[in-house]
Amino acid sequence: MVEHVVVIGAGVYGAAVSAALTRRGARVTVVDGGVPAGGTSGATFSWINSCGKQPRSYHDLSVAGMAAHRRLAADVPHGDWYHEGGNLEWAGDDAGRDELRAKVAGLLGYGYEARWLSRAEALGLEPDMDPAGLPDGEIAYFPREGWIEPVRLVAHLLSSAVTGGAEPVTHDAVTELEVTAGAVRAVRLASGRRLLADAVVNCAGPRAAALAALAGLVLPMRNTPGVLIVSSPVAVSIARVVHAPHVHLRPDGGGRVLLHTHEIDGAASGTGEAGVDPAAVAEVVEAGRALYPGLRAATVESVRVGQRPIPGDGLPVLGRVAELPNFHFAVSHSGATLSVHAGDLVAGEVLGEDHDDALAAFRFERPALAAR
Ligand SMILES: Cc1cc2nc3c(=O)[nH]c(=O)nc-3n(C[C@H](O)[C@H](O)[C@H](O)COP(=O)(O)OP(=O)(O)OC[C@H]3O[C@@H](n4cnc5c(N)ncnc54)[C@H](O)[C@@H]3O)c2cc1C
Repeated sequence: MVEHVVVIGAGVYGAAVSAALTRRGARVTVVDGGVPAGGTSGATFSWINSCGKQPRSYHDLSVAGMAAHRRLAADVPHGDWYHEGGNLEWAGDDAGRDELRAKVAGLLGYGYEARWLSRAEALGLEPDMDPAGLPDGEIAYFPREGWIEPVRLVAHLLSSAVTGGAEPVTHDAVTELEVTAGAVRAVRLASGRRLLADAVVNCAGPRAAALAALAGLVLPMRNTPGVLIVSSPVAVSIARVVHAPHVHLRPDGGGRVLLHTHEIDGAASGTGEAGVDPAAVAEVVEAGRALYPGLRAATVESVRVGQRPIPGDGLPVLGRVAELPNFHFAVSHSGATLSVHAGDLVAGEVLGEDHDDALAAFRFERPALAAR
């Protein structure tokens, strides 16, 4: 019987899994080598969406992830870390327009909410945009999408886990997993502490492969860095997620705006914020200012670099490992969208619930993952 579960990592996944385990009555120790939300969950665009997720199983999981955020935020008196303002997206060239048309058609076919807006309609939603920065039409609007404040979500989930009896351990990395007779028996920490475990959940984000290796498992990962730019507080109305051709924006609390584009992810040299090319940052800020002229009054408050935890075939790795059945994964890109829902499925399985159908496409053993 599973009584004590060690959850490794206190990002969105570790926090969600811990909260879901304690809600079901398990005893939980959640261990982080740093601080909660100090990993990728503290440096993410955190757009809540299923806007182009393939295959269908990944799309459906993401839609369920969106619904789980909506429910959680509605159930909690101060669940205002969740913002459902929708997402606007348009393309800058013919190839991009073809791609966007195909995406919208596919999503409508799945029953996902999407519609086309004219320039005037888009300006009705985002009046501080410069009309010259928008096309005449073919602006896609996905009204049910949104964004979260991930650090506040992690704080809520962890505090609900602690209220349910979980022990949080910070600044103490997992250094060894003791595996005997096909099960993980104990977890050793850098401090020398040894935690006996009935089950272990790997929520180590971009470090998930290193943790898997401690259990003798090979988890192919192809993590990539992402650069996020935070503006100073500025009196510009940005009420939702906006995907323009050379810049993505969303509000970031307290009047700040978060800017991102995949075009400068390569500008992160691997040495953290200090290694980001300032010219690349300036280009993104300029694209933001061209679209929202009021951003000219803002400065760059900070630049963050996050590591996307991407399993080898791009899909989440969730649930029990067949050859080591008390060792479980909760690892994915799109973790901001998925973690509340997927973490709940994983926690249920740890405690013996049967989620085979929901997790089937995301098992560690799928051949496509091993092939990478
Ligand atoms: C630039 C960027 C943009 C993104 N945009 C989006 C988006 O728009 N929408 C979306 O849904 N997702 C997005 N993502 C992805 C999403 O942010 C991640 O999938 C999610 O934050 C991962 O959470 P996690 O809990 O798995 O990992 P993390 O938040 O990294 O947490 C893992 C934790 O494990 C700890 N850890 C590691 N090794 C050990 C060890 N040995 N012992 C103990 N603890 C350990 C770390 O300290 C860390 O705190 C984005 C990511 C990036 C980088």
